[in-house]
Amino acid sequence: MTATDPLLAALRTAVGDPQVLCGGDLSAWELDWRRRWRGRARAVVRPGSTAEVAAVVRACAAHGASLVPQGGNTGLVGGGVPDASGTQVLLSLTRLNRIRALDAANLTLTAEAGCVLQAVQQAAADAALLFPLSLAAEGSCTIGGNLATNAGGTQVLRFGNARELCLGLEVVTAAGEVWDGLSGLRKDNTGYDLRDLFIGSEGTLGIITAATLKLYPRPAAQATALAACGTLAQCVALLGLAQARLHAGLTGFEAMNQFSLELVARHFPALPRPLPGAAWTVLLELSDADGQAQARARFEALLGDALEQGLIGDAVIAESLAQSKSLWHLRESIPLAQAEEGLNIKHDIALPVSAIAGFVERTDAALAHAFPGVRLVNFGHLGDGNLHYNVQAPEGQSAQEFLERCEHAVNAIVYDVVGACGGSISAEHGVGALKRDELARRKSPVALRLMRALKAALDPDGRLNPGRIL
Ligand code: FAD
Ligand code: ZN
Repeated sequence: MTATDPLLAALRTAVGDPQVLCGGDLSAWELDWRRRWRGRARAVVRPGSTAEVAAVVRACAAHGASLVPQGGNTGLVGGGVPDASGTQVLLSLTRLNRIRALDAANLTLTAEAGCVLQAVQQAAADAALLFPLSLAAEGSCTIGGNLATNAGGTQVLRFGNARELCLGLEVVTAAGEVWDGLSGLRKDNTGYDLRDLFIGSEGTLGIITAATLKLYPRPAAQATALAACGTLAQCVALLGLAQARLHAGLTGFEAMNQFSLELVARHFPALPRPLPGAAWTVLLELSDADGQAQARARFEALLGDALEQGLIGDAVIAESLAQSKSLWHLRESIPLAQAEEGLNIKHDIALPVSAIAGFVERTDAALAHAFPGVRLVNFGHLGDGNLHYNVQAPEGQSAQEFLERCEHAVNAIVYDVVGACGGSISAEHGVGALKRDELARRKSPVALRLMRALKAALDPDGRLNPGRIL
């Protein structure tokens, strides 16, 4: 592109010269977190306000260019990096990073889309309140990306996913208009829910520029425990017992298979590893309104009963905040350990909790039969029925070669069983580029027609993140 390129000139007018990048090393924006998708942007544009985002969208429309919105670039489905054509404008939202307001009486916070999730959590904590969305990428993912993907994470069991934590949105439409829907209302039945249309739309229907989010009182106390189970069915039974005893106090319930923790031990040997021999390890978190001693006593009673009923073999309760953090660190290190191990075939699936144990038994067996020696990194938010059922090449085989040769056949096995069990092929990561064709194959024709009608209505020229989802 030359300096006289009219699109670039229009973008520079919209956001100022220094915020339009082309040429040089743009890999921070062009390469995804998994290092699976590398695109080429016509330019990376970094607006600093909603008005500038709108001006960028209008400039792209005027010059027939398409746009890929991007937040923290931690997405796992190839939805936030440009394609290889060199024609797409990468719209980075990270300079929209102000907390606009915090209303303690209304329990709401309004943040711009590029605010890093951790900064939003901190702003809530500074006001002695809680913003509960929490995921391992929270130090770099953004609120805009969280809402665009309807992120889940580790607290969904109690607080719901990003959608349930959002009351209002500000969005720049495909026409470059600003829709101000930043209400902090918990009830508003004035017609179609535009907010929920944009949440989870992965940048294909509009650009999220700000959001009004729900806050909660901070729990008086928290306790964390690890429990060792012999089978996944026992983990599911433990979940039932924990829900019956702890009710809304149960704020986290994560399950990890043995191999996923072995990978963590291999790549992060300094991390402590309690319960090393367990076939399945469950991480439980309890939040209590009463106090630390009560929280601990409730946990001890629960785990004592679970032991008596034969659901668990052993358990540890964290003695301090530092110990509790190190247990969570273990769980959150699994995706990082996997990335160290090499490319893998990821499945972010949702199932009815009642179907999970059967699903895993059936799918493990089918994969072991079709790909002898295959290694299964199986972990996830069991409390929500969400597994990260990831398939790693047999020991000693090239991860890249296995991915290229086997991904299609592996996906067919996994997703056929997901379908038979009444599950979903994307629980929390979204569709992006990775699952677009799978979605077309597996979603009903009626659902696909309705989705295409929405896309055509909101983005008639197909300029917003084309080729993603649909
Ligand atoms: P990006 O990766 O930049 O973008 C993601 C998608 O949203 C793209 O399609 C992009 O076009 C679109 N988008 C981004 N910003 C906007 C905007 N302002 N307006 C419109 N569209 C936009 N996800 C979970 O749900 N739960 C987890 O537990 C979880 N754990 C993770 C752990 C690790 C280690 C990593 C690397 C990722 C994890 N993820 C998880 C996935 C990822 O962090 C989430 O999808 C996150 O919400 C993406 O936010 P982001 O700002 O990085 O978005
Ligand atoms: Zn997850």
